Amino acid sequence: MAKKGELSKTARASMAQRDDTNFATDRICEQCGERIMLKELMPVKVVGQGMVYYHKNHFAAS
Ligand SMILES: [Zn+2]
Repeated sequence: MAKKGELSKTARASMAQRDDTNFATDRICEQCGERIMLKELMPVKVVGQGMVYYHKNHFAAS
């Protein structure tokens, strides 16, 4: 596993080629606990906790 947070340009490009809008990130939704697809990813900064992630729909609903 590569270190978290940064992908190389090559890795980024190959992922984008695969399907730019329909691949699962390794982010887990705080609302439902499911893995988040790239196009659904909603990063939110929480004071004292850092970044958390939601599905866009679930963030709006929470
Ligand atoms: Zn969710």
